[in-house]
Amino acid sequence: MRRKIVAGNWKMNKTLPEGKQLASEVINIVADEGPADVEVIINPPFIHLAPVVQLAAGQDKVKIGAQNCSEYEAGAYTGEVSAAMLRSVGVDYVIIGHSERRQYFGETSEQLAKKINRALEQELQPIFCCGEPLEVREEGAHFDYVCTQLTESLFHLTREQLARVIIAYEPIWAIGTGQTASAQQAQEMHARIRAHLATQYGEEAANKTPILYGGSCKPSNARELFANPDVDGGLIGGASLNARDFVEIVKSFS
Ligand code: PEP
Repeated sequence: MRRKIVAGNWKMNKTLPEGKQLASEVINIVADEGPADVEVIINPPFIHLAPVVQLAAGQDKVKIGAQNCSEYEAGAYTGEVSAAMLRSVGVDYVIIGHSERRQYFGETSEQLAKKINRALEQELQPIFCCGEPLEVREEGAHFDYVCTQLTESLFHLTREQLARVIIAYEPIWAIGTGQTASAQQAQEMHARIRAHLATQYGEEAANKTPILYGGSCKPSNARELFANPDVDGGLIGGASLNARDFVEIVKSFS
């Protein structure tokens, strides 16, 4: 059986006091109601990470991730945060290649491949995001587009390294728009991603890789999305900013 995972991406939201409050609420509600077999991750902004890791100490149901890391190991890169720094504050996961990073900050597949390497060197689990813009879907080129993203940023990894990677399929047209991919659209892309992984790493490795769906996932549609055989959970943006909504999504596996 594959891991079930729900990860919250807070993006650039919440001051530190607000973030600590939200993290405490999520930790408390998950402690009371969270299913034992779902891995729950919250990804606050960088400066919240150390205090939120402290809040999460002493429990193991909610894990902490970052939203990005540098492609460089260390040095004169003003404003950057390295994978080693994340590891040093007790972070376990890092989102890499979110479409907002690709779109607004020009991150390329080549840079993302380096970020994946930096994360794995520090024993962080990368949550690698992929997904097509609307015009690519309208042209019918979405499967090739997403498979190319995977090939370019992940296929240099060994099978052992891939085993530490979580993939998040996030169609750009569904992120923050209220427009969700249908359960069928999510399932067919997830199956295609898995088949593509199998061409490089074999069926067994592909079958073990968690593939999350992201894009306007909320309590009202999570159950239908997570019921698909190749959808192993979600990467949640807007709805992760409300503890109750987020935990309802965590509880949406059948
Ligand atoms: C995201 O940005 O990772 C995301 C899925 O956002 P939203 O849930 O708000 O669409």
